[in-house]
Amino acid sequence: MGRAFVYVILGGGVAAGYAALEFTRKGVSPGELCIISEEPVAPYERPALSKGFLLPESPARLPSFHTCVGANEKSLTPKWYKEHGIELVLGTRVKSVDVRRKKLLTATGETISYKILLIATGARALKLEEFGVDGSEAENVCYLRDLADANGLVNVMQSCSSGKAVVIGGGYIGMECAASLAINKINVTLVFPEVHCMARLFTPKIASYYEEYYQSKGVKFVKGTVLTSFEFDSSGKVMAVNLRDGSQLPADLVVVGIGIRPNTSLFEGQLTLEKGGIKVNGKMQTSNNSVYAVGDVAAFPVKLFGETRRLEHVDSARKSAKHAVAAIMEPKKSGEFDYLPFFYSRVFGLSWQFYGDNVGEAVHFGDYSSGTFGAYWISKGHLVGSFLEGGTKEEYEAIAKATSLKPPVEDLAELGQQGLNFALTISKKPQPALPIEVSRSTSGLVLEKPVYAWHAAAGVVLAASIAGFAYWYGRRRRRW
Ligand code: FAD
Repeated sequence: MGRAFVYVILGGGVAAGYAALEFTRKGVSPGELCIISEEPVAPYERPALSKGFLLPESPARLPSFHTCVGANEKSLTPKWYKEHGIELVLGTRVKSVDVRRKKLLTATGETISYKILLIATGARALKLEEFGVDGSEAENVCYLRDLADANGLVNVMQSCSSGKAVVIGGGYIGMECAASLAINKINVTLVFPEVHCMARLFTPKIASYYEEYYQSKGVKFVKGTVLTSFEFDSSGKVMAVNLRDGSQLPADLVVVGIGIRPNTSLFEGQLTLEKGGIKVNGKMQTSNNSVYAVGDVAAFPVKLFGETRRLEHVDSARKSAKHAVAAIMEPKKSGEFDYLPFFYSRVFGLSWQFYGDNVGEAVHFGDYSSGTFGAYWISKGHLVGSFLEGGTKEEYEAIAKATSLKPPVEDLAELGQQGLNFALTISKKPQPALPIEVSRSTSGLVLEKPVYAWHAAAGVVLAASIAGFAYWYGRRRRRW
C-alpha cells in the first residue's frame, strides 16, 4: 500500500520550491501535490550556503532563506506547504522509480504513485575518491552541496579559527568558499589545475582582477597542480595535503569544490539522457510524456544557442521549474522555454553577472582598476555573451537585454571603446538583429549596413514591433 498524488516533485531543492509556488498559482488543489526530498528541510535557496550562511556575523539561517525569497517572492515555510495542502515528504530518499507504472519507491519502503512526475533531483558534489584520492571522509574535509555540508563546514571553521585552510578547486564553490573563509580570518590557499581561476567562464584578464583582489585579502593561489593525497594525524584528521608538483600544504581544514554530477541514476535506461542530464523538450518534458525534468538535472534546448544545454545555475532552476509547471497545468497556453542563460556570484564586496554564452572572441571593456568592468563575447559576428562586474541594476538589465537581442557587431575595437554604452544604447533603443545600422551617428560603430532603402524601411517597422516585444519580454524575464 502507498499514497497516490496527481503531481509528484522528486527532489526538494531550488527548482522544487519554485515549482510548488507555480503549482499553487496555476490552481493545484489541496492533496494533489507531493514533494519528496532526501533533505530534512523544506526547499531553500542553495546559493546562500556559500555566502550568507558562512558569514561570521549574523549568518543566514533557515527559515530566512527558504525559496522563493531569492526571487523576491514569498518565503515558503513548512507552514505554507501545509496551508496549501502540499505534502512534504522530507528526509526521505527515493531509491527507485518505475516510469512505466508511474510509481516511486522510497528508502522507507513506501510506494508513491503519480500521474505526472517532475524530476528536480539536482546534482551531487563530485568526491575526491572518484579521482583516485582517498581520505575525504575525514572530519575536517568538507564538501558544500547541502545544508548538512554547510553546517559541517561551519563547525570545522569555528574549531580552527585563525587556522589554515586549503580549498581544492578554482570554480564557483572554490572561489566563494575561499572568500568566506578569508572573511572568517582563516588563512586560505586555493589550489587548482588550470592557469587561472573560474577557467570555464573567465578570460585571463578577468581572472587576474579577481585573483589580485583575493590576494589583497590574504588568499594564496597555487595553480597548475592537483591534490594527490592527504597526511593524517593520529586521530584521523587531515593535517596536510600533498600536491602533484611535490609540495605539501599544512591544513586544519580542507574544502573540496571539484564539480558536480547530475542525479540521473534513477532514470538511466528509462529516459533519454543527453549532456549528462535528462533530455527534455521546450516544455521540459522528458522522453516519457508523464515525466518532466527541471533544474541542474535537465538538458533542455536553449533557443538562443540553437542547441541542448544543461545549466548548473539557480536562475535556470527557478525559471525551468516555473515553465514546466505552466506546461503541465496549461499545456495549450504554454509555449517553448525561451531562456537567456544567466548566472552570478557575490564574494567579498564584489558582484558579477554573466548572460548568454562565452564562446567566440572576448572584447574587454571598462577600467579594470576601477571595479566596474566587463567583457562581451562575439561569435559569428554577433554579441552572444556579456559579463559585468560592479554594475548598477540598470547596467545589468542592459547587458542582459543586449545579449538576448544578439545584435550584429563588426568592429570589435569600437565595441571595446563603447563598452557599457553599447549595451545601454541597444537597451534604450532596442533593435532586432536585422540588417540595419545601430547608433552609427553617435558612435561610428557600424554593426551592419542596410542593403536597400526599401529593405531598411520595412525593417524599421518590423524592428519596432520586434523590439517592443523584446523589450517587454526582456523586462518580464528579468523580474525575479
Ligand atoms: P538542488 O537545489 O540541488 O535540489 C535537488 C534536491 O533533490 C535536493 O534536495 C536533493 O536532496 C534531492 N534529491 C536528489 N536525489 C534524490 C532522491 N533520490 N530522493 C529524494 N531526494 C533527492 N548558482 C548561481 O547561479 N549562482 C550562485 O551564486 C550559486 N551559488 C551556489 C552555491 C552553492 C553552495 C551551491 C551548492 C550551488 C550554487 N549555485 C549557484 C547553483 C544552484 O544552487 C543550483 O543550480 C540549484 O540549486 C539547482 O536547483 P535544483 O532544484 O535543480 O537542484
